[in-house]
Amino acid sequence: MNSQNRVIQLDSQLLDDELGSLLNKQLDDSISILKLSQWKDEFQLGLSLLLFRLTTWRGSTYGLKLHNLALMGSKNGLGLKKKIFLLGLILGKYGYSKFNSYLYRENGKEKVKEAIEKLTKLYQLLDFYNFVSFLVGGRFPNLAYRISQIELKKTKLVQEQSETISFEFQNRQLIWNTLTEFLMFIMPKLNLSYFLKSDAKIDPNLRFLPERVCLICYSKDSNEKKDDSLDNHLVTNPHETNCGHVYCYTCICNQLELGKREGKLWACARCGEEVEYAKPV
Ligand SMILES: [Zn+2]
Ligand SMILES: [Zn+2]
Repeated sequence: MNSQNRVIQLDSQLLDDELGSLLNKQLDDSISILKLSQWKDEFQLGLSLLLFRLTTWRGSTYGLKLHNLALMGSKNGLGLKKKIFLLGLILGKYGYSKFNSYLYRENGKEKVKEAIEKLTKLYQLLDFYNFVSFLVGGRFPNLAYRISQIELKKTKLVQEQSETISFEFQNRQLIWNTLTEFLMFIMPKLNLSYFLKSDAKIDPNLRFLPERVCLICYSKDSNEKKDDSLDNHLVTNPHETNCGHVYCYTCICNQLELGKREGKLWACARCGEEVEYAKPV
């Protein structure tokens, strides 16, 4: 039995983790809006169980499907025992985190805490050992799969075909990224007065705001009472001026362009020095 490409196996797991954390984040946000945060762990358990029922229980996950892989026991497909083992892991993980948070709320019980810490270290060691042997042998990318002897194998459908994965999605993503980056670059260069925003009057007190905030767009939006949250005005595509201060690329280009038109240089909002140029950080 030839082992499948290791990169593909790891990649599919990473994709699954990523999808899971995206869903979890959405769930977290919605339960904090509904003020149900004390049930956070239970909601997350529910989500994991739902995902498990929709993916692993059917023998494959979304990440695996993308790479034409499926979870397989010794024969074809996952047996009931292995499914129950994986289900038990989810419940066990929930129980472990509940037990841990109970333990750290209580005082005392030092012995139990020490034992848990030792067990965690042992687990990490085994996990590391498992990873090394995965790299060597190309089977069982995680410890749970090794214990339950579950392998990631090519689905029958494509077993004979060459290893083709659809890269269409990545291609589209790449093109889109390049396009938006190009737009970001070209827009301020086009001398369209239309896109030039008016000169921002920047309150000198703002210079004490953290460096990661762009003073130009922050002061513009807060002057117009649109949005005065600092987090929404973190520097995007940072460019450093000759005086060593950092602004968004579009913001600083806008200011330089405006200055050029009025025949004077823009004074840096942080130090007051005249800004002649800005370069990428
Ligand atoms: Zn800005
Ligand atoms: Zn400056």
